[in-house]
Amino acid sequence: MLGWSINLFRVRGIQLSLHVTFLLLLAYWAYQGYHDGGLAGAFWSTALILAIFTCVVLHELGHSLTARRFGVGVRRILLMPIGGMAEFDSIPRQPSRELLITIAGPAVNFALAAVLWLVVDRSSGLPDNALPASLGELGWCLFYWNIYMGLFNLAPVFPMDGGRILRAFLAIKLPYVRATFWAVTIGKVLAVIAAATALYFDRYLLAALFAFIFLAGEAEYRGLLRRESQDAQWRLMMERLQTVTPTPPAAEPPPLQEPPLLK
Ligand code: ZN
Repeated sequence: MLGWSINLFRVRGIQLSLHVTFLLLLAYWAYQGYHDGGLAGAFWSTALILAIFTCVVLHELGHSLTARRFGVGVRRILLMPIGGMAEFDSIPRQPSRELLITIAGPAVNFALAAVLWLVVDRSSGLPDNALPASLGELGWCLFYWNIYMGLFNLAPVFPMDGGRILRAFLAIKLPYVRATFWAVTIGKVLAVIAAATALYFDRYLLAALFAFIFLAGEAEYRGLLRRESQDAQWRLMMERLQTVTPTPPAAEPPPLQEPPLLK
């Protein structure tokens, strides 16, 4: 499912990809804008969604470029209707590194909000119908949206940023797998509550987002358990290898035998 994507371009060597369902979201917003305000409405609503997703890319670049400083390979940034996802080769187990990589994302949103607050035209405000009709209104939409995105991502719902921060703090005291288990469990409980609340208020995209987060948390935990058991098997094999190799050499070397196929 995550494979249905289109590669766009690279930003500082990091591939930016678009999930095909993102195009549906774009079409839906353009249609809504046209429905509410004709061609101008379609233009401004498309401009808003593109500007929002530019901020999503910058948020993910915050994570990715910080990760790369710690030597973590970044495969790509994938944009989906529910948001963005940076795919790393591995996640550092040192709590301090995971903390810095994670905080870098929301920090970008708060920095963007600060810049927008300084540069956006004060005479315009938020549009009445949530659809901007000028550059100033678009700027204010983006200002509030960045604050919202920064705060929303800090909710302790693993694998959202807040959940990763929680795991990093838990991992200071607990073994890494235990810390992940508790962060994922807390995240799953909160994701179920949030999805049910979103459904109650007919916010289907938000409910889908929390369903995705629930599954992503579970998948990441299972992946971690799998790697742990592979590592344990590998260690066991290495121990066996070490106990097998130093056999004392035979007094007489065994007679050389031809390989059976060459006889
Ligand atoms: Zn993030």
